[in-house]
Amino acid sequence: MKKFGIALLAVLLALLPLAACGNTLDTMDVGAHRKFIGKCDSEYLCRDCIAKHLGWTRETLDAWILKFRRNGCLLFPPLTDGDGCL
Ligand SMILES: [Zn+2]
Repeated sequence: MKKFGIALLAVLLALLPLAACGNTLDTMDVGAHRKFIGKCDSEYLCRDCIAKHLGWTRETLDAWILKFRRNGCLLFPPLTDGDGCL
């Protein structure tokens, strides 16, 4: 299951574009962008830029993302043991 998740992530990463700032986007960046900035955007910001855009610290943004993941929000990957906060 874990291996499958990593393979899936690799495929998604290969398909995902870079953020406007040049950072590589991951599924969390895209999920956060959709959640906090806009669902239908075709270009995404990385989490650092999203936090800046919202006037939040990166810690605040991550805390919100964690909250949504705990609630099972489908915009983000499900929580795993590796997240250490179940
Ligand atoms: Zn960025």
